Amino acid sequence: MAKTLYKKPTIKITYFTDPLCSTCWIVDTYIDKLKQAYKGIITLDIKMGGMLESWEQLEFQDKQIQKADYLCNLWENESQKNGVCMDSEIWKVNPVSSSYPASIAYYAAKLQDENKAYSFLYTLREMLFLRGKDISQEEALVTSAIENDLNIDDFIDDFHSGKAEELFKADLVIKRNWNITEFPTLIFFNNEQEFEKALLYSVESNFDKQYSNWEEIIDRLSGGRALKKIENVNALDVLKHRTRLSVRQICILTDKKQELIEKELRKAQVEGLVVLERIKDFDYWRYNDTTFHIKSNRLNDRTLGIIGGGIGGLYTGFAAATADVSATIYERRPDYNYNGFGFILLKNGIDALDAIGLKNEVLKEGNSINRFTAIEPNGELILERYLSDCLAIRRKQLLTMLLKGNKQENVEFNRHFVELEANEDKYQARFADGAIVESDILIASDGINSKIRNQLFPDYQLDAVTEREIVGLVHCENVQFPDDQFIKIVDTEQGVYLGVLPLGNSDFIWFIQFNETIQAVNSTDFSDLFEFSISLAADYPNDFQRIISCTKENELFYWTSKRMDLLPAFHDKNTVIIGDAAHPLLPFTSQGANSAVEDAATLMAILTNQCKSETLETAFDDYYETRKISIQHYLKEGDLLLNDFVNLSLNKGFNLPLSIH
Ligand SMILES: Cc1cc2nc3c(=O)[nH]c(=O)nc-3n(C[C@H](O)[C@H](O)[C@H](O)COP(=O)(O)OP(=O)(O)OC[C@H]3O[C@@H](n4cnc5c(N)ncnc54)[C@H](O)[C@@H]3O)c2cc1C
Repeated sequence: MAKTLYKKPTIKITYFTDPLCSTCWIVDTYIDKLKQAYKGIITLDIKMGGMLESWEQLEFQDKQIQKADYLCNLWENESQKNGVCMDSEIWKVNPVSSSYPASIAYYAAKLQDENKAYSFLYTLREMLFLRGKDISQEEALVTSAIENDLNIDDFIDDFHSGKAEELFKADLVIKRNWNITEFPTLIFFNNEQEFEKALLYSVESNFDKQYSNWEEIIDRLSGGRALKKIENVNALDVLKHRTRLSVRQICILTDKKQELIEKELRKAQVEGLVVLERIKDFDYWRYNDTTFHIKSNRLNDRTLGIIGGGIGGLYTGFAAATADVSATIYERRPDYNYNGFGFILLKNGIDALDAIGLKNEVLKEGNSINRFTAIEPNGELILERYLSDCLAIRRKQLLTMLLKGNKQENVEFNRHFVELEANEDKYQARFADGAIVESDILIASDGINSKIRNQLFPDYQLDAVTEREIVGLVHCENVQFPDDQFIKIVDTEQGVYLGVLPLGNSDFIWFIQFNETIQAVNSTDFSDLFEFSISLAADYPNDFQRIISCTKENELFYWTSKRMDLLPAFHDKNTVIIGDAAHPLLPFTSQGANSAVEDAATLMAILTNQCKSETLETAFDDYYETRKISIQHYLKEGDLLLNDFVNLSLNKGFNLPLSIH
């Protein structure tokens, strides 16, 4: 047998960490860099250190120190010094109760797949440091498990069965045996089990220096045989493999200077290849893997007039501002004081928001919905399904974040559009005060009762269907609904659905969907709607009744659902329609807001990718053909769900009341 003359060196790094460890959040980038430089040589063995068993019991020796203030300051300092965001407010607002559940959950993930467990942990850190989420809650752990494509039933079983906890406890023993008291601590081992320890934490830490120290350790332990791979990587290369990175992190991973990286990123941003997310004081960058690549090409100097500053209109204004396009929004309301309640954001809507740099903010402000459950009025389960990319968000929160991306002077309130006036190859917009506005492109985002649609397509009218809705927005503390579950009662006897959608912090949207040919309300006054809802829910589980009872006068809304066939086009001359104005959709699909932002993203991507020689007609045709496919699907699905509802019967099964595809 041939003698092995050369054995490839391997270095195992045991990384003692904790999901709450702020220094680990910084060090993770250096570890990534090390893995990249010594590909095939180093392996990582993660051990959970159990840094915070209980927030309640955490005490500093110096009793004068306020623990929330202390941690808040520590995070602020580390964050500023190292160019990564740490949402320190969490320690003052809602301190994480323990790091144990997240540590155990890491093992529940690892029991399925080691690589997925590593990204599961990274997702938890993003949730904590970039969004201020309480990662000690099981809902947050399940959200991360869904995001990382784990089998959720197995994950939950392993999390609760003691199996994952045993592995975590074994780590705590190893930690004690090695006398590890600080996180992160790295121990480097070679093939011969020789090792060196690298302590990392100190307020004065210089991690670039620490990194050089690790390389020296690797060199010593491998007897100089572990050769570093030197690759010339650019910002886009590193972004493709991570969810998002701060400028400093990109500099670390590419070994390039900040000015050079910023230049590279701005160039890629102009092409719509990367998106910028502003997270607290930091610029974070994401590789744009959505289908919407909105370029900054000033739209060949065309101007935009946007009629209606709702969700679709504000999105368009935001995208225009990012693309350096001149745009003005004309909104008939005096302000955004009345904002409606809220809705579900699904993958298509989240992707569209991602394309303008709002993904992290939406994930922060929204409440992740991990499962949909349908039950009978007696509480018996009909259907349960896990959901990915699903959030509940208040309409006001979404409007606020979209508004922030618009220049204040470009949003004009009290501008009541009345009519389009044809002027050769263009339409101009006439307002109630007699003013005429002329723009190269007019975007009609004036909602479900669109005047513009009515004028351009008078043969297409809204048809009221038999389904009616009463919707309530409540704050209700004495109910036991899980924070991540969208639950619906299916009442075949009364022909009614009652849904509850949690918004987080004990806020909920509830809605009753009923068939007006079976049930009828006396009037749409609050007291009549309230009494009607209470009596419909009289035999439902207590929590549902409690939620309705919590509803206050200005928190109730009556809605008549309407449908309309697909329009033959979404434009005429220079005017193009988006959102509810273009295609009213039934509420069953939860596609109103999602489709509005998807329309706006699609349109802006098409327009900003046009050459100067191409006509608006080509762009608008392209927009219609692209959107037609999805809208036809939502219309069909809405009709099916309506049909299910009108012929309510449990025997034929129950479909998920969301249009996801
Ligand atoms: C006040 C309000 C509250 C809502 N609340 C909810 C809710 O709680 N849940 C839900 O699922 N959906 C709600 N919706 C509908 C939801 O916003 C839309 O279905 C979805 O977001 C599609 O967005 P859009 O931009 O097409 O329409 P919208 O968001 O409805 O925006 C249309 C905008 O156009 C403006 N407008 C209309 N006519 C004119 C005119 N003649 N001149 C100038 N401006 C005009 C409106 O004031 C509005 O701001 C609400 C809509 C409004 C307007």
